[in-house]
Amino acid sequence: MLGGLIMHWAWLLILFVLMAGSLFTMLIIVGFLFFLLGEWLFASPDYWNKRLQGNLPDDHNKILIYFISVLPEPVIKSVNIARVGDDEDCFKNEPFRVGFFRTIHNPFSFMGITSTVIRIVDIRKSSLRARPDTIWHEYAHSYHNLLDETKSDFTSRWGKMGSGVISDYARRNGLYEDVAEYVANFYLAITGYSSLFDYFWWHRLVWRVKLESCSQKLVLLKDYGFIVESDYKKFLLKHPEFKTE
Ligand SMILES: [Zn+2]
Repeated sequence: MLGGLIMHWAWLLILFVLMAGSLFTMLIIVGFLFFLLGEWLFASPDYWNKRLQGNLPDDHNKILIYFISVLPEPVIKSVNIARVGDDEDCFKNEPFRVGFFRTIHNPFSFMGITSTVIRIVDIRKSSLRARPDTIWHEYAHSYHNLLDETKSDFTSRWGKMGSGVISDYARRNGLYEDVAEYVANFYLAITGYSSLFDYFWWHRLVWRVKLESCSQKLVLLKDYGFIVESDYKKFLLKHPEFKTE
């Protein structure tokens, strides 16, 4: 009789442990799904921008020119060749790639008088309308490359900035992607699209990003010509939280 009762309690205990265990696992899974949902909603501008394409021209080269024209003159001029297409060799083996920046050696460079590299930007045609940030991202790479080539101290100064990474992509891929992500999101913000700056609180919360470092990075972009003064002011009207003293 007593043995049977102990067995009975033992089974109940095992059942309880199993249930508590699966409940805990479920909580972890649900928590993780919420985390992924948050990353998707608040850390990626794609979701919001799909609805915000406006009245763009039909011709893809005109769209390209339209989006390039918001950039400062030196940034635009840093690119020697800009192309739109899905057939370019750089996209053939990378189905998820939306833009590409590369440099090739300039065979006509002469004793440092002309540039030693030719800068090429490729944009996937199908992502042209929904992802203008791709264009600004690749143009930022190009101008950054020009600064490096002219022995600017921009890269070392950016490297000394604290934790102020705004995108998950930049967080995983280092300094050059960080700069390009800042520039791309800056121009999303001032042209009326939603940008990662709108969801900065999410990065502060999850990745412990500092507002101060982020604000200083924006000043650096302005000082080195990625951004013109008037656009910087326009940005601060929309995002006064990034003002520096
Ligand atoms: Zn990039």
